[in-house]
Amino acid sequence: MNADCLFCKIANHDIPSDIVYEDERVVAFNDINPQAPVHSLIIPRKHISTINDIETADESLVGYLVSVAKKLAEKNDLSEPGYRIVMNCNQQGGQTVFHIHLHLLGGRQLAHLG
Ligand code: 5GP
Ligand code: ZN
Repeated sequence: MNADCLFCKIANHDIPSDIVYEDERVVAFNDINPQAPVHSLIIPRKHISTINDIETADESLVGYLVSVAKKLAEKNDLSEPGYRIVMNCNQQGGQTVFHIHLHLLGGRQLAHLG
């Protein structure tokens, strides 16, 4: 828990959010500014600022974020039509909240990358 971190506060229920899943390791909640009909953020309860700060010991936790995203995609009937998961890193990567989070986006055609 980082006292200055928005997503730690959300994970701790100190700031309200639309939580769609939580357990002892992760919390998932809907993005406040959704870019698609489904736009959830999956975060570890552990404060990790950026992808650069992920340590070897965090590998299973980061893999678990993907597992939870997959389950949320299923729950939202996105498995067959498809969806996207994204994690941004630092300024040029578009990261604005410095507690790692996986975006789950779906429910509309997403633009091809590149
Ligand atoms: P980033 O740009 O760091 O990859 O993603 C941060 C995301 O957090 C953005 O999509 C933004 O809309 C979302 N966000 C920022 N503040 C809040 C908040 O207070 N509550 C929720 N639910 N989402 C937030
Ligand atoms: Zn945090």
